Amino acid sequence: MSRETDICEWLVRHPGSSRAEIATAFGLPRTTVTSVVGRLLGQGLVDEAPDPRHAGGRGRPPTVLSRRGADLLVGVVIATPTRARAAVVDYRGQIHSRAHALIDASSERAVVTSLRSCLDTAATKGGIALTGLDELVVGLPAAIRPDTRRPALTPVPENSAGWNGLAPWLSTSVIDHLAAELPREPHVENDANLAALAECEFGAGRQFRNTMYLKLTAAGIGCGLIIDNHLQRGSTGFAGELAHMHIHPDGPICHCGGRGCLATILGQDVFRALEPGADGPDRLRAIDAIAATLGRALSPLCTLLNPDAVILDAGLGQIGPRIRDGIGHSLRAATSPAAVATLHIVTGELDDAEVLGAPALARNASR
Ligand SMILES: [Zn+2]
Repeated sequence: MSRETDICEWLVRHPGSSRAEIATAFGLPRTTVTSVVGRLLGQGLVDEAPDPRHAGGRGRPPTVLSRRGADLLVGVVIATPTRARAAVVDYRGQIHSRAHALIDASSERAVVTSLRSCLDTAATKGGIALTGLDELVVGLPAAIRPDTRRPALTPVPENSAGWNGLAPWLSTSVIDHLAAELPREPHVENDANLAALAECEFGAGRQFRNTMYLKLTAAGIGCGLIIDNHLQRGSTGFAGELAHMHIHPDGPICHCGGRGCLATILGQDVFRALEPGADGPDRLRAIDAIAATLGRALSPLCTLLNPDAVILDAGLGQIGPRIRDGIGHSLRAATSPAAVATLHIVTGELDDAEVLGAPALARNASR
């Protein structure tokens, strides 16, 4: 294939790329890319537009290039234990349509129908059939095995010993049946990993290569690790399972089989302080306790991985800055200054990072 064709095809999956990014991707001199792009612009095969990443900057904005008339669309459904939300989103991170639904967990079939209908509704609202979508993504609140793309653990019922907090309906067979009903095999990914990819592609992590993303909700903690611009899943999909970091040698046994895990030390009562609308005099104390404990838990990770940034879930809203500052204080107090000298601790920029992680994941998978 000619260089023109190669670059044209690459721009389909990387819309909004600068000439410098094209040069890096192909290992070509900038001058060569400039002349190839000049020919493509002349033939009307690519479009040029101001770079939205530099909006508000001074001077003439740099420009980016996209393949004309070739926006790839991704359908994504994100599940929590009780709810599903779906969207159609393009590779530039523009959300075209959305849908929300409760998950009917009365049977495996009902769960599959809930998830697929939610995705169907989003597609219909976006004016497209499921078969017309270029990629499909399923986001789950669970560790996902990198080899099988299915959940790494099976749930334990909530009212029995060893409850592991996983959605009771979650199983390999549910995801198999959902995949069989979709027109193409979906990418299946952990929800915090999706959010981490999104913040690094479209949000607060754009300028960093090494990022730890913290998903923090009343339901617990998730974490996504991006090292050298690559998502880390580990051997069994357990990479980034911060909730199961060993914190206390005399702590209670955890459902994961470990002892004194972060999740057991903080506990569900503490996490309730993060619920939207939660109030009361003890709330700020609980939030500060979460931040201090998280800061100490992140200390060995920052020593081992020496990241550029820790990005906090944008969904924390108004309490985000308080948690960010609390984590920073306890992390820096517990860690060698050399490991955290240039560390940025920031709140995320994306309201729906999990959904926006879908095009980032699909693009990475196609590289
Ligand atoms: Zn554990």
